[in-house]
Amino acid sequence: MADSGRLDGAVPVGRLDGAVPVGRLDGNVLAGPLSEIFRVDMTVATGECRHCGSLALLADAVVEMDDAGYIVICASCTHTLFTVVRSAERTWVDLQGLAALSLPRP
Ligand SMILES: [Zn+2]
Repeated sequence: MADSGRLDGAVPVGRLDGAVPVGRLDGNVLAGPLSEIFRVDMTVATGECRHCGSLALLADAVVEMDDAGYIVICASCTHTLFTVVRSAERTWVDLQGLAALSLPRP
């Protein structure tokens, strides 16, 4: 897993609700919340963007984070790859922006 940190030179992305995201980070911030669902380190997974076809490690995606969850954005075309929304009781994952997701086998 690569180092976590702020993403420099990130392209601004509009939000439908007009809210200002709390933070914009790289995909490594997803290691914790996605491990609750997939039980493996998803930052080493490769995602295929449904919009532009780009293949990239989730660790290299752009992530906007706020109190409700995460918006994972394609670094190539800035479309949303998937979202993770968490409450005290449940976690919802919307994968509509991903054409495919692949993981190295153990
Ligand atoms: Zn894309």
